[in-house]
Formats: sequence, structure tokens, C-alpha cells
Amino acid sequence: MTYLFDDPMTFPADAVEGLVAAHPEELVRVHGGVVRANATPQGQPALVVGGGSGHYPAFAGWVGPGFAHGAPCGNIFSSPSADQVYSVARNAENGGGVILGFGNYAGDVLHFGVAAETLRAEGVDVRIIAVSDDIASGAKGNHRDRRGIAGDLVVFKVAGAAIHAGADLETAERLAWKANDATRSLGVAFDGCTLPGADDALFHVPDGKMAIGLGIHGEPGIDETPLPSAAELAKVLVDGVLKETPELDSQRVAVVLNGLGTVKYEEMFVVWKHVATLLGDAGLTIVRPEVGEHVTSLDMAGLSLTVMRLDEELEQHWLAPADTPAFRRGGTVEGDLGEERGELFAPGEDPIPDASQESRGSAERITEILGAIESLLVELEPELGRMDAIAGDGDHGQGMALGSRAAHAAATRALEGGAGARTVLVQAGAAWSAEAGGTSGALWGAALTSVGSAFVDDQAVTDEQILAALVQAVEAVERLGGATPGDKTMVDAAVPFREALSAATGSTGSAAEVVVAGAQKATTGAEATADLVASKGRARTHGDKSKGTPDPGAVSFSRIVTLLGEQLSA
Ligand code: ADP
Ligand code: MG
Repeated sequence: MTYLFDDPMTFPADAVEGLVAAHPEELVRVHGGVVRANATPQGQPALVVGGGSGHYPAFAGWVGPGFAHGAPCGNIFSSPSADQVYSVARNAENGGGVILGFGNYAGDVLHFGVAAETLRAEGVDVRIIAVSDDIASGAKGNHRDRRGIAGDLVVFKVAGAAIHAGADLETAERLAWKANDATRSLGVAFDGCTLPGADDALFHVPDGKMAIGLGIHGEPGIDETPLPSAAELAKVLVDGVLKETPELDSQRVAVVLNGLGTVKYEEMFVVWKHVATLLGDAGLTIVRPEVGEHVTSLDMAGLSLTVMRLDEELEQHWLAPADTPAFRRGGTVEGDLGEERGELFAPGEDPIPDASQESRGSAERITEILGAIESLLVELEPELGRMDAIAGDGDHGQGMALGSRAAHAAATRALEGGAGARTVLVQAGAAWSAEAGGTSGALWGAALTSVGSAFVDDQAVTDEQILAALVQAVEAVERLGGATPGDKTMVDAAVPFREALSAATGSTGSAAEVVVAGAQKATTGAEATADLVASKGRARTHGDKSKGTPDPGAVSFSRIVTLLGEQLSA
């Protein structure tokens, strides 16, 4: 249960504000997250690590000398948006380039990737590290395709320490990947976690059982077994992780026994007693273990074990001092700790270009349609959430509701400021992506922006432009997400829709008729995803579980374009 909150919608931002208030000498709040109170030393690479909220100490608790320089903080369990990542990186970067570090999830890959492109366009050297330590989330041969869990701690610690010791961007990037490739984790859970404001947990583990391989967002596990004793659990974790740990010459390992939220420290120590013995029996020397809460999952009852095989340089950086709100090691951190900060970067309001009367008329209609989409998605929120919880993380309903609400609000604001059709949609797309985060937030934000960029601010929107814009928007989603039909994503609904629209180009039908017909194809495509096994997105690691349930993103896509057809026909 999450007992204390004001407004569930503002919970993540409220928590960040309180964190900064609790650590005024260490952290400053910036748009989208936190950075160190002191500026990054001139020329030093900035390590910016993040992900959704709900995982504290990850990630904002790791910002400080010897560790990270900044952390964007997304909604609960949802990747931060590209604009949050960009803002934090801009405030952290000081001439040495940026490493963006996150767990390997589709939403994070997209949003951090878009932020990286924006930074690169401004001449900043950016490197990306997607942590992938969770052995339960993918096959042995494809370690870098797995998702990231508590391995975030060791990988980012190594990168941060290396940077503090003087590593340049290139070296820090190499070390971070080396750390990731040497790290394996396995988690178990005894019960699920409850989002602020929700009456019940995202999922439950049956009484007397333990789920093995659970993700840090409540993604389902790979196996369920009877609840073990502490000694038995230690064996499950150690055997599981060691089976996957790469062979190195060195027998030295960094080890993290991580609590996910409600397992008591004493319980963890009882397990640790056995873990330490088993690792010793396996001939390994444990170097500076960490037993405690590092990457949590709200109030999830669970534990994970992380092992990083050390060589000399990994060990040096694992052991180096760090001084952050949640991770302190080795007395004083010496060296350049940076000067006092100058002015902070804060994104301004986007200006509204002049628009003609005709284009403003179209903008008004577009804003009404966005309002109808918001109402639809608010109504669908519980249903989409339930579908996503079957093999994903249960946040699709929340993301679509937040995104469409923000898009409608931004469009209304732009319209009131005199915007035309193009600007209304471009700003609505930016707002959708910024508020929703997650995979669908990035893709829907890009889709709206893409539709807008096919329109102009000095003329009314024509039927021909509508069809071309929708085709272009689906192409943007395909390009950005990299999914193809059959992967069990929204693309399974979007591609048949796009094909129907393209086929109708030059025909005599109105845009309304063509969109209605295309939406029928999308609906058929979405329904057919029930038979598929997911191979992209969060559900990919639990593909089989999704069989029998349609893909939530495909369903929401088909419902939105169906509504669009109705609206255009009205
Ligand atoms: P997240 O997966 O980050 O939790 P959501 O739950 O909001 O984000 O959205 C999940 C939906 O996103 C999936 O149902 C799927 O339709 C869509 N999706 C996931 N990955 C991709 C991708 N690579 N390309 C297109 N759509 C994707
Ligand atoms: Mg989801």
C-alpha cells in the first residue's frame, strides 16, 4: 500500500521536491529532475542516469560526487520524457559531453534516444548505456537485449567513479559497458506493489508462493515456486546468477543483495549470511558487498541478487569513494567537486507563430477532436491498464490518459494564443510526450507532431493533407519504434490503417470515408494481436503470457482512429 500522498498525479514530482528539500546542500531541482548542487567541473563528462520514479534510491539518490551528475525523474515506473532528459542533461553538461544511463526498456530507449539526438544537434557528445543485467528477461546469448534491474547500481557506480578519477567520455563509456557485460541479476517477489491512489496492488503473488524473475515494475515472473526458507532462497539466487555470470580470470566479485521495498533489512541479512557462504563455496571473493535497498519498486515485497565479475579497473571504481544522498562510501570524496552553479537552464514556452484565419479555423476543429480523444482515453484507462498488466507493466491506460490530457490542454493554450493548425498539433505532440513518458508517450507524441508538420499555419487543412499527414505519422511511429507487423505492438493496427490510406490516395472518397475504412482495418489488426506473442516493448520478455490478450497499444490505436473517423464524418 502507498499510504501517503496528496494527489496521485503529482506524487512523483512531489517526492522529488521533498528529496531536494531534504538534501539542499547536495541537490538542486531542475525541470524534469535533479542535478548536483555544484556545477559539473569544467570539461568533466556528465553522468545522467534515470528512469521512472518509484525506484528510490535509484536514480535521484545517486546524484553526487563520485557517482552521477544528474537524474531525470519520470512518472511512476514510466520512463522520463525526452524533454525531461534533455533539461537535466543540459543542466549537468559542462563541456565534457554526457553519458545517458538507463535500464534497457523500450520507453527509456526512445526518450533518452530522442534527447540524445537533440543534444547532439547542439554539438554535445552523447553516449548511451542501456543496463541489461536481468537474466530472467532474455536468453543468455543476447545479454544486451535484456532489461535492467539492480545492476544499474554497479554499472553507474563504476562509470561515475571512473569519471571522478579523470576518465574522458570514451573511457567512461567503455568501462560502463564492460561493467554491464560483467553483471548479472535475478529477482524474486512475494507480493506486488501498489501505485499511489490505487486500491490494490498491480499484481499479487499467491499466498505461500514466490515468483521468480519478476521485473522491477511488476512485470510477471518466469516461474512460481512454494515460499522457500532463507537458505533455500539464497541457493536459488546464487545458483541462478552464477550459471549466467561470465567466466573471467579473476575470482573477485562485487555483490548487491537488493531489497525491493518491504523486505526488512534483518530478513535480507539472514539471506545474505547464506549468500556469502555459497559464493565463498563457489571459490569467489566478495568485494565490498551492498546489502540493502538500492533499486526498489514502491512497496514490492521482493529481493534481487546482483553479481559483477571484477577485473582490476572495475574493482578500483567499485571501491572508490562516493557521496550522494543515498550512497555514501569511503569517507571524503577528494578532487574537483565543481564550483557553485550559475544560472539554471529552464525550457521556455514555445512561441506561437502568426496564423491565418482559415488555419485557426482548422486548429479549432483539431482541438475539439483532441478533446474527444482525451474523453475516450479517460474512459478506456482501466481497460487499457488491465491489458498492459497481463504481460507489461500496467501503465498503458495511465500513460494514454495523461498524454491525451496534456495534448488537449496544450492545443487549447496554443489556440487561445492564436495558433494555426500546424502549431496546435506540434505543441500538442510535445506535450503528450512530455507528460506521458513511456513507449506509447514517445510514439504518440511523435505521431501528433508528425501530423502537425504536414499542415501549415497560413491555410486551412485539406482532405488530401489529412490523409498524407496520417500516413506520415504512422511512418514516424514505425521508424522510431522499429517494430514491424507481427511484433505485437500498435504497429499491427497502424500499418493496415496506413496501407488503407495510401491505397485510397487519389480516389474520390472524402478523408472521412477513407479514415473510417482504414479504422476498420486497424480494428481487425488490433483484434488479431491476441493470437501473437510479443517480441517488442516491455511485454517482449514475457511474450507467452500475452497470448490470448490483444496488445494494449494496438487496441488504443484502433479506438483512436475509429473516433477520428467518426469526428471527421460529423
Ligand atoms: P511502456 O511499454 O513503456 O510501459 P505503454 O505501456 O504506455 O509503454 O505502451 C505499451 C505499448 O507500446 C504496447 O502495447 C505496444 O503497442 C507499444 N509499443 C511497445 N514497443 C513498441 C515499438 N517498438 N514500436 C511500436 N509500438 C511499441
Ligand atoms: Mg506499459
